[in-house]
Amino acid sequence: MIIINGKLITWEKPNRVLDGYALYIQDEKIAEIGPQAELLARHPQAERMDAGGQYVMPGSIVAHTHFYGAFARGMAIPGASPKDFPEILQKLWWPLDKALTEADVRASAEVMMVDAIRHGATTLIDHHASPNAIDGSLDVIAEAVERAGVRAVLCYEVTDRDGPEKAQAGIRENVRFIERTRREPVAEGRAAATFGMHASLTLSDATLDACREAAPEGIGFHLHVAESMADEYDSLAKSGLRVVDRLNKHGLLGPRSIAVHAVHVDAREASLLAESGTWVTHQPRSNMNNGVGVSALESMLRLGIPVCLGTDGFSSTMWEEWKFAYLLQKVWHLDPRRMNGMDVEQMAIYNNARLAGSFFPQAPLGVLAPGAFADIIFVDYHPHTPLTAGNLPWQIIFGFHESMVTTTLVSGKALMRDRKVLTLDEEAITAHARELAPAVWMRYEKLVP
Ligand SMILES: [Zn+2]
Repeated sequence: MIIINGKLITWEKPNRVLDGYALYIQDEKIAEIGPQAELLARHPQAERMDAGGQYVMPGSIVAHTHFYGAFARGMAIPGASPKDFPEILQKLWWPLDKALTEADVRASAEVMMVDAIRHGATTLIDHHASPNAIDGSLDVIAEAVERAGVRAVLCYEVTDRDGPEKAQAGIRENVRFIERTRREPVAEGRAAATFGMHASLTLSDATLDACREAAPEGIGFHLHVAESMADEYDSLAKSGLRVVDRLNKHGLLGPRSIAVHAVHVDAREASLLAESGTWVTHQPRSNMNNGVGVSALESMLRLGIPVCLGTDGFSSTMWEEWKFAYLLQKVWHLDPRRMNGMDVEQMAIYNNARLAGSFFPQAPLGVLAPGAFADIIFVDYHPHTPLTAGNLPWQIIFGFHESMVTTTLVSGKALMRDRKVLTLDEEAITAHARELAPAVWMRYEKLVP
């Protein structure tokens, strides 16, 4: 297939914006990029997909999300509003994840798949919790991923907060699913696995070691790190160590591990993250919503920590996350010079692509280049000023909206064309979730302490 009449944003390094070029896709990968007339002459029989003057670029990558949070939208928290992050966990997320049945896990994954396709997110790294439906939950999500056609990295969050049996079940679910992905292609090879853990503050030393021992060779860990100060104080009280030191002691850091948030890490913890090559993900909307603080992003980037950008279960609208990442640092530091747009690009584009690519080593992700996976979106954006590779981060921050995404392809297959989701029945999925929601909310309310 040849994609014609698009303006290509390649997101190579350095980035290029190409007019008059076309993309030739063979099977699941980009085979050639070249001047349109040449490509058409070389492949006269190829099927054509007309981008109609839209921007054609790699799909967005979400470095950290929670599909299971879908039912939280519009849900009321009974009683007094949570006053801090530990109360948000106790009054919102923990009773909500306990309320989920297997059917709810499926429905929330489906809702989030539609959301991803609509907003041009083609690869998502998920972190799942459903303590009353643990066994097989990652298969249920993988089925949704398979039907949707997106690419996803899945894990189950191990925690001690629901007792030792559920902690063991969480470990088993991670190991089972990791081994499954090694035995057979899951979701046609579009689902990969990592080992999920909740956060230091709900994990004992014994469980940290049990996860380390259970994790198959070559697997890293995906967990929340120092999201609020409570995580640091809990770790100090439990072990005399700060969170990152504690994780390091238990062998959980490294170039395959993802430390989510890292809002309250101190200088030594940050250097430990850098030395170990651990990934950090930044979710500014979530940090703002939870009132947990602001990451020292620029320092972490300068230390060489590969900081990525995620959504933490907010809608898979990555350009929204760009905007918050950009604006939050400026107001926090009372300085409009902070957080250069190119730093946001570094995180959201180059770092996210490397992180996602580490789970799908068969071909590059997040770039339009020969040999890369054909994970591509069309963006119906017609700027009134010149758009160049140099000013693209600011065109995105001030001009792009996810509603401008009209077409989403993963592995060369169209998941949405002209704003019509093709792989899933969006209306039925939305209606089904709306039917389930009242029962989820009722179970949730009974579980709120
Ligand atoms: Zn999270």
